[in-house]
Amino acid sequence: MAKKQFKAESKRLLEMMINSIYTQKEIFLRELISNASDAIDKIYYKALSDDQLVFNQADYYIKVTADQEARTLTIADTGIGMTKEDLENNLGIIAKSGSLAFKNENEAKDGHNIIGQFGVGFYAAFMVADVVTVTSRALGSEEAFKWKSEGADGYTIVPATKDTVGTEIVLKIKDNAEEVSYDEFLEQYRLRAIIKKYSDFIRYPIKMDVAGQ
Ligand code: ADP
Ligand code: MG
Repeated sequence: MAKKQFKAESKRLLEMMINSIYTQKEIFLRELISNASDAIDKIYYKALSDDQLVFNQADYYIKVTADQEARTLTIADTGIGMTKEDLENNLGIIAKSGSLAFKNENEAKDGHNIIGQFGVGFYAAFMVADVVTVTSRALGSEEAFKWKSEGADGYTIVPATKDTVGTEIVLKIKDNAEEVSYDEFLEQYRLRAIIKKYSDFIRYPIKMDVAGQ
């Protein structure tokens, strides 16, 4: 499938974010875990009004897996998942129209910290990853799709296989550069600390598995 282009505003915002001198790269994990939690909430609320759907607490969790050798960090959830259209609509357009206007309005007040304050959600992943792959299967669907992007130049969506409903996001963690190391985002102790700091209130279990240390 041909690579699709991000919408113009999205591209500006993504480039701004990726290139900004952002000190707290760690917030990407807060954003991805909060999305995972939102996705489980959606099943939970659906189950309240749908007799066909039973919410078994034990089936709903978020799993963070680091593989130091492969340099991948995976955030998986058993939430509602995304259809092909959802992947296109939710991940193909950054932060909807309001955010850029918001940025312009507030830039004078608070130049650099706008990203942290407003949150660009999912795209924060590109602060630490050079490739992001999202494989998702929506509730009620047998099909799964894989969304993949290397940043500002666009994304692809192809059919995939996934045994269970939910979403799996694989971050290919950036290689270390001269002055900056990304290794911490593959270390169990550090990941635990980030999760404790930002995601302590999440009401679903966050499981963790780190290979290679
Ligand atoms: P926000 O969470 O503020 O809507 P994000 O950029 O964090 O913005 O996410 C964009 C959208 O992508 C979400 O609203 C949701 O529809 C979808 N999404 C992101 N992550 C997931 C996920 N793990 N499961 C299901 N949908 C997701
Ligand atoms: Mg979000």
